[in-house]
Amino acid sequence: MLTPRESRRGARHGSDVLARLRERPPALWYRGEPVTDATTHAGFRGGVATLAALYDLQWRESDTCLFDSPTSGHKVARSLQLPSTPAELAAIGRAMEVWAKHTHGMMGRVPDYLNRALSAYAGGAAFLAAAEPRFGANAVRLHEEIREADWSLTHSLIPPQANRSVGPAQQADPYLAARVKQETDSGFVVRGCRMLATLPIADAILVLPSTLLKATPDDAPYAFGFVVATDAPGLKLICRESLDYGGSHFDHPLGSRFEEMDAVVVFDDVHVPWENVLLYRDVERCNAANLRTGAVAGMAHQVVIKNIAKCEFVLGLAALLVDTIAAEGFQHIQEKLAELWVNLETMRALLRVAEVDATRDEWGVVQPAWNPLDAARNLFPRLYPRMIEILQQIGASGLVAMPTEGELRGPLADDIRRYYQAARADALERIPLFRLAWDTAVSAFAGRQVLYERFFFGDPVRMAGALVAAHDAEIRAYAERVRELVRDLRDEAFASAESSTRQL
Ligand SMILES: Cc1cc2nc3c(=O)[nH]c(=O)nc-3n(C[C@H](O)[C@H](O)[C@H](O)COP(=O)(O)OP(=O)(O)OC[C@H]3O[C@@H](n4cnc5c(N)ncnc54)[C@H](O)[C@@H]3O)c2cc1C
Repeated sequence: MLTPRESRRGARHGSDVLARLRERPPALWYRGEPVTDATTHAGFRGGVATLAALYDLQWRESDTCLFDSPTSGHKVARSLQLPSTPAELAAIGRAMEVWAKHTHGMMGRVPDYLNRALSAYAGGAAFLAAAEPRFGANAVRLHEEIREADWSLTHSLIPPQANRSVGPAQQADPYLAARVKQETDSGFVVRGCRMLATLPIADAILVLPSTLLKATPDDAPYAFGFVVATDAPGLKLICRESLDYGGSHFDHPLGSRFEEMDAVVVFDDVHVPWENVLLYRDVERCNAANLRTGAVAGMAHQVVIKNIAKCEFVLGLAALLVDTIAAEGFQHIQEKLAELWVNLETMRALLRVAEVDATRDEWGVVQPAWNPLDAARNLFPRLYPRMIEILQQIGASGLVAMPTEGELRGPLADDIRRYYQAARADALERIPLFRLAWDTAVSAFAGRQVLYERFFFGDPVRMAGALVAAHDAEIRAYAERVRELVRDLRDEAFASAESSTRQL
């Protein structure tokens, strides 16, 4: 049993999230020390407060964000629904939009991301059960437990970045990548490391095969899927330095609110009970699981909605910068705004096609159409760094000329009011705008967002390779059409050459 029975009361409020973090703190380590209370820790509290706010928001927007549990009748998160109609799938999309808009897409790992993955695993339980019936039953039960307790999940999919020329089984240390150390009657023991859990303040960690890296038969001890609580004995979540500098919302508008944190996951002999296991030592099934269950499509559905929120935010920010410094007349500025708008409309179109062309999968669950989502997940890692470049090109030196809140009240206040004004904003309005743009395009928070968008769904190079392999037949068919055209051109040219020779 993963979630305590008394916690299964349906959708949580923010206060429940804070209470749970205090009562059962995840095994977070920060700068070499354990974090005993993430709700008050300077590196975490901003992100924690936003996470709690999202849980309150789901109640304020309950018609959109919640639905009636099919088992308990409690209101539960719509992102944990198994859609049986395209309308239900679209409703899940609208629920995910509420959270994405609240964070401007800057918290990619709000819990609905993995709620979609877990729901897909429950929907595709038969795929897991084909290996062992209990694994399928576990997926259904874990999904229900998490839905009824409204727990949040983080996940870790890939081995640590030591030697990328070989897989986990060929590393110098066989226990570098997390692997099965020992099997017992009650489960198995895991030792080693996995990367990279974003939102380690979550309640549980979903340890799944990579969506992209394919394991070989040698990798069987490293091939599994399971869930454990983030306070499981032996688990360590080694966090990077926080991007929340501890400043005010004014000084650090994004980092102080949307620091979701990333952590390397160490399993120091973590016991995984059989009832929490979804996949075990079955390399082929692990390689196929995320695609066959629909987990990748479910996550990508959330991702494209997050992309839209980010596109809207960056477009709005860029347009306000332009307006504030009266740069709207320059042609290259208009071109850049147009580029941002095209990105937004492209993401919107891909989302719409994915929802409108939704189909029932082999397990009877309605899934968004995969091709537009695959296009979106391959495109956005290239669009987002360019969107940030555009903000830098528009904001220029204004992105570093931005005093802090304290300076506005200090001895330089008069100078600041005079020299930091803009064409269409006084200094008190211009400064928070440019601080927001700095946190989106220049700060460490901004840098991590770019890195996130480049990599979080997998290495873009290998994603592109997987895409070409998946669409090989379609791409070849287009090549054949062009080949026919080329041959027609050749035949036509030679035929007319022959006929002119004959006429001569
Ligand atoms: C901010 C952030 C958050 C993340 N959050 C999560 C999370 O919550 N959960 C999770 O599981 N993962 C997460 N990830 C990890 C993500 O899945 C990986 O970054 C991604 O899979 C790429 O793996 P890697 O970072 O180890 O890069 P590597 O695989 O080490 O690649 C490094 C470089 O080598 C190249 N390279 C390596 N191997 C090959 C190859 N075989 N062929 C061609 N090129 C190769 C890559 O193209 C890249 O340029 C996150 C990553 C980031 C940056």
